[in-house]
Amino acid sequence: MYSIGVDIGGSKIAVGIVGEDLQLISKKSLPFPHTGDPMDSIKTICSLISGLLAENRMDIKKAACIGLAVPGSIDYNRGIVIDAHNLDYHGFPLCKLVGECFPGCVVHVENDANAAALGEFYCGAFRGCSSGLLITIGTGIGGGLVLDGKLFVGGKQNGFEFGHAVLVFNGEPCTCGQRGCIESYCSAAALVREGRKAADQHHESMMFQRAQGDLTRINAKLVMDCAREGDVTASAIYQRYTEYLGATACTAIALFDPEIIAFGGGVSNDGEFLLSPIRKYADQYAFFKHHAKIVTAELKNDAGIIGAAMLHLQR
Ligand SMILES: [Zn+2]
Repeated sequence: MYSIGVDIGGSKIAVGIVGEDLQLISKKSLPFPHTGDPMDSIKTICSLISGLLAENRMDIKKAACIGLAVPGSIDYNRGIVIDAHNLDYHGFPLCKLVGECFPGCVVHVENDANAAALGEFYCGAFRGCSSGLLITIGTGIGGGLVLDGKLFVGGKQNGFEFGHAVLVFNGEPCTCGQRGCIESYCSAAALVREGRKAADQHHESMMFQRAQGDLTRINAKLVMDCAREGDVTASAIYQRYTEYLGATACTAIALFDPEIIAFGGGVSNDGEFLLSPIRKYADQYAFFKHHAKIVTAELKNDAGIIGAAMLHLQR
């Protein structure tokens, strides 16, 4: 039996069909309609699903579920998106509205970082394990945890917001209003902030030169490129950044003792350049000597679609 996964993001809505062998058979996407009326996004979601099914000569009646992934908080019992600021969904009955377009089909909704972790569990980096933590490094930090084969969504079902655990007391301000969160030190935005700060103080640095003195041109890739090429200023920033990630991995190991910790998102594309300093840090400081394997995520951009499509196996 196949199932449908929908990854609803602030920039686009991506829909995919996942087959019985857990492979993504087909996918398509459209921009998220920022019209001010969230009902327009329901139309986009439903037409994408109908179009994809028609192209693949499939019938919704034979689908195990439609799974929806959104960047926000979920009321699981009622299938409601409590808040997804990028989508302008607030108390939005997403499951009911999508279900009305496909009567008889089971519809589930999940936070996108959790869905991505589920994708890695069934079809990616966590395969063969019963526990794993996915840390997605983007503008923010997304975290998803699978324990004993089950997605962990909090004891009170409020969610799993690993990125907002405090790493530095009274540290850098975070998007959530708190200070010193993992997100405010480990996100790509944090790497950029520190790179710009350092380049501003070191005009002789490769970062400042490559940006031709325009600090706004310094992005995460530029900081990493300069560090890899041995620029002293960039290397110091990057080393500190990987230490924060190492400390984050150690926290996760002490709390959950997962079999795998997988890093995803653009910063992780570099593989070993990111992973080896984190592993070194964990080998030295993790509470458990035989700790989690530290790897890169496997599913990249499709993790949310695939994980959402697998939600029927968890509910
Ligand atoms: Zn925070």
